[in-house]
Amino acid sequence: MSKKFYELTPDERLLALNLKEDIRLSLSSRQSPVNAQMVENYISDFRMPMGVVHDILIDEQHFSVPMAIEEPSVVAAANNGAKMLSNGVHVIMADTAMIGQMLLIGAAGVDEFIDLHRDEIFAKAKQAKPSIYKRGGGLRDVRVRNISKTETSVDFIIDTKDAMGANIVNTILEAELPLFEKFVPLGVILSNYATNQLVTVTGDVDFERIGGREVAQKIVALNHFSKNDPYRATTENKGLFNGISAVVLATGNDWRAVEASGHAYASRDGQYRGLVTWTILNGKLHGELTLPISVGTVGGAISAMPDAKQALSIIGDVNADTLRGVILSVGLAQNLAALKSIASGGIQRGHMRMQYRALAMQVGAKTDEITAIVSRLISLSYVDASVAKKILMEIRNEPKN
Ligand code: NDP
Repeated sequence: MSKKFYELTPDERLLALNLKEDIRLSLSSRQSPVNAQMVENYISDFRMPMGVVHDILIDEQHFSVPMAIEEPSVVAAANNGAKMLSNGVHVIMADTAMIGQMLLIGAAGVDEFIDLHRDEIFAKAKQAKPSIYKRGGGLRDVRVRNISKTETSVDFIIDTKDAMGANIVNTILEAELPLFEKFVPLGVILSNYATNQLVTVTGDVDFERIGGREVAQKIVALNHFSKNDPYRATTENKGLFNGISAVVLATGNDWRAVEASGHAYASRDGQYRGLVTWTILNGKLHGELTLPISVGTVGGAISAMPDAKQALSIIGDVNADTLRGVILSVGLAQNLAALKSIASGGIQRGHMRMQYRALAMQVGAKTDEITAIVSRLISLSYVDASVAKKILMEIRNEPKN
């Protein structure tokens, strides 16, 4: 009997996909035995460019921070933003617990039940995951939230220490299920809305760092649009997540979780708004960003993937709280750089060099031809693929000395 697709080896799967020979060989050459264990139907690795914020000052400590991202100019902008934040970023950490939900319908009497069985509920959690208690974590609280007339969420507040904690939370929740049997729970699952893990970063920027008070005022006015206009808010937050998600991804963390949580927080009062706030305060441009963010420095993909561990080591030997502050600081720098660009004449100028590198590759330039093409494209008022191709041909036809 022939094997099912998922039973094949990665190379057998590639063969079954009937790809062109060169593509199949190229994908095959990028396989890694470690990553083959991470997802089903594995065929190959997908590489992303990784850059670095060389120096960002956070609470008097200098950090280098890896960023994995495919979009040109993001890393350059983050570095730029970090330089503008030369006074440093300050991190304010609130709570550090995850929320797990037990979803009930028609849960009359659940409050009293929890009060009566509190000790049992806490004992069950400890039994389910004793190792997290040894690390100083575990179940902190159990709260009831009535969502509608018939729907109730029992929220389990769980400290997962340096792990993002999805599996830890789900393990504890599942162990609690039998206790709540009489309420016939619909199911249990962690919530990615990490409101018990709020982190705030602030930064003060000297006017001269950004081209004067007038530019600062423009940044404040631009930022204000994102507070009232969801069209502007979506773009401003997308730019913010250029920075945040690139660090989250490079460090092996779950960027979908971080983004979902961030966007939910951006809509917390019913309207989607920009997450960063810029004001003029004490003669400086003052930025502030608060985000519920749940990431880890152990567990999940971080422990499994050497790439993630190596990237994390660029930041240093940090715990999850420090990582959360670093990620948000890069986000603040990224947002500052984007607003500064728009306020001083548009972001296209800054983007061009990197975009033209991509265009040169797109039209077939070899690595040693890219710089020459880009420097010619920069001087032109109109550029498209046919222009880039023409310049590539000219360069190739020029006599070499
Ligand atoms: P793990 O299941 O890998 O748990 C982390 C483990 O690391 C702990 O159980 C603990 O095990 C060990 N550990 C070592 N040092 C520490 C420390 N200092 N602090 C805490 N734990 C430590 O990962 P998570 O529970 O963090 O789950 C994250 C993964 O779950 C991610 O890959 C995510 O994508 C995925 N996921 C996400 C979901 C979602 O977001 N909705 C849903 C389901 C999964 P020990 O104490 O035994 O050594």
